[in-house]
Amino acid sequence: VTKVAGNVHKPVLLLDVDGVFSLFAPGLDTRSGGRWLLVEGMAHFLSDSAGELLRSLCAGDAFECVWCTGWEERADEHLRRHYGLERAFDHLVFDHPPSGAHWKLAAIDERFGPHRALAWIDDMLDERVERWAEERPGPTLLVPTDPGVGLTEEHAATVQKWAEDPLNAG
Ligand SMILES: [Mg+2]
Repeated sequence: VTKVAGNVHKPVLLLDVDGVFSLFAPGLDTRSGGRWLLVEGMAHFLSDSAGELLRSLCAGDAFECVWCTGWEERADEHLRRHYGLERAFDHLVFDHPPSGAHWKLAAIDERFGPHRALAWIDDMLDERVERWAEERPGPTLLVPTDPGVGLTEEHAATVQKWAEDPLNAG
């Protein structure tokens, strides 16, 4: 697949929340490593280290960070304060009728088109997403996470490295 430079914008960093920052797994140890956040009556265990990695990833202005989560506008409202993020991030809205595709793809395509460089961190990247990424003409990096662990240093390093030269990152 030939990768085409879409435009001069910096790469987009799509951020899922549940399974990336908000951890869940059977038997997850919540005694340390995170803090609880109550959102509309629902308690979420937010990883401290994932938040720290997010602050450093987005501090350098290398990305346009965009929440890509069912939390929609609540992600920025709650997580910016919880994690002490310096800037507000935009968010995607998922109001498309269900189809056979992964539920986030239509909104991503609509907002960013086929050519914009995109890195996407999510715990629910399935084979439909992998196929979409392969067929996408723009540079596309998928970063799957384990929902009980969330964003790791290794993921952050991968994203950082990719952003230095998305067109040639392979
Ligand atoms: Mg998720």
